[in-house]
Amino acid sequence: MMPSNLRIQSTKKDMLYPYYDTIVIGAGIAGLVCGAFLAKNGKKVLIVEQHFVPGGYCTSFKRKGFNFDAAVHHIGGCGKWGIVGLCLKKLGIEMDFYPLDPMDHLIFPDFTIEIPADLDEYIIRLQDRYPWEKDNIRDFFRDFIKLYRATFNNEKSQIIGKYKDLTYDEMLNIFLKDVELKMILSGQWGYIGLPPTQASAIGMCQMMINYLKDGAFFPVGGTQEFTNAIFEKFIDFGGHIMLSSRAEQILLNGKTVSGVKLEDGKEILSKLVVSNIDARQTFFELLQGKVPMPFLQRIEGMKESCSFFLLYLGIGEDIDLSKLKRGFYHTAKDINSLDGEWMYVSVPTKICQTLAPPNKQIISAVVYTKSGESKDVTDWKSFKETMTESTINRLEEYVPDIKKHVEVRDAATPKTLERYTSNTHGAAYGWAVSVDQIWENRLPPRAPIDNLYLTGHWTRPGPGVCAVVSSGWGVANLILENGR
Ligand SMILES: Cc1cc2nc3c(=O)[nH]c(=O)nc-3n(C[C@H](O)[C@H](O)[C@H](O)COP(=O)(O)OP(=O)(O)OC[C@H]3O[C@@H](n4cnc5c(N)ncnc54)[C@H](O)[C@@H]3O)c2cc1C
Repeated sequence: MMPSNLRIQSTKKDMLYPYYDTIVIGAGIAGLVCGAFLAKNGKKVLIVEQHFVPGGYCTSFKRKGFNFDAAVHHIGGCGKWGIVGLCLKKLGIEMDFYPLDPMDHLIFPDFTIEIPADLDEYIIRLQDRYPWEKDNIRDFFRDFIKLYRATFNNEKSQIIGKYKDLTYDEMLNIFLKDVELKMILSGQWGYIGLPPTQASAIGMCQMMINYLKDGAFFPVGGTQEFTNAIFEKFIDFGGHIMLSSRAEQILLNGKTVSGVKLEDGKEILSKLVVSNIDARQTFFELLQGKVPMPFLQRIEGMKESCSFFLLYLGIGEDIDLSKLKRGFYHTAKDINSLDGEWMYVSVPTKICQTLAPPNKQIISAVVYTKSGESKDVTDWKSFKETMTESTINRLEEYVPDIKKHVEVRDAATPKTLERYTSNTHGAAYGWAVSVDQIWENRLPPRAPIDNLYLTGHWTRPGPGVCAVVSSGWGVANLILENGR
């Protein structure tokens, strides 16, 4: 994958310091945001990143003039009052987004639902469709929004106590009876990676209300532009970065962090380390298990989120893609089979035409593979071929003859995601967003080692770009508040 332009480079070797206030391992969005706030406050910060482009899952790559987003399709909360919008403002970043309206579609075998960008409008549409559930829908969303606000403000309130141990399915059942309605309200579970019977109510609420109330947005020029804007600010603030530099070890001086050793053997010293990478890798590999045993055992028992198969298609001229609505294509006819195979399809060129050569288009599909199944795969090449073929066949149901128009075809498996980001088994969302791994049960930002902090989707509040922006920002504040 090539960077979208040449603005993105490592700091020249002769400019690097022998000692940093903080080294951030990983230039995912959380690591970049954390680094940018620390650098803005005068700290000497170095980010080390194994890949030659920053962004982790929020990167893009080019093939024959088509600019494909590697993983992220849209970002929540980029408006003036959303967390991402506020973060960009604080960092002095100005960039443009396309607000997505409608926010999404749910395509079931027998009917399609359009999810509008406005939550009140969505509630009215659901009440019109299910008049016998009118008051229940109102009550459900009243609590759902309250719960969102409480988690957003990190409150220990009654509403958190009421729902923190419930799955999303259990929360739905408190209010609603109509099975089809509950299926619709669960149709976006792919954005947190667990079906309603296993997903935490808090996790679903954080994702859904964030998109429905604070908006879903697409960065002008693609998702790499979002990353690059934060990256460039970090450099403007005096931050240093080493791309293509894998951290191999977190150095310790007794029980305190003292720096990072890179794969090439180079040791760089620092007062603090922030890890933005896979949590198992941090503790079992980079720290070689030198953490209190109960903590290690806890990590060992935790479960990572699911991964996906991704298909990227560059499509030639003269093809009508109007039937391909952006959203989830479910095979399920009822709520109990909602965890079957689904695909999420988007045509980003409908939002931002400059991502492809004139009059050409991009189709991107994400296919859910149950994590247990893809973990057992040994022949990734044939897995990729089979999945590519079956996904194109599924797309042909909506766009006949699509095969004849494909000019560029590429795909990523869970193995590819793991190779580019080192997330275990290509986990899309860090730890699975189950009741026992969210809110206070997710890893805290402070690790049980002095001067080591954690940021990103393996920590609180959870997965998704908006959440990891909040994590990166929060960890920077924690470090600054402690006068480090
Ligand atoms: C297919 C897919 C689609 C998604 N779609 C969306 C979406 O539309 N909207 C949304 O909000 N979220 C989406 N997500 C989730 C979202 O992308 C992630 O939750 C979020 O980007 C994670 O950010 P992060 O900063 O925690 O880390 P990551 O993005 O995982 O970045 C970690 C970084 O650390 C680097 N690294 C790892 N190990 C080392 C090492 N030893 N040394 C140096 N560097 C290292 C990696 O190369 C990587 O750059 C999607 C995820 C996937 C997989």
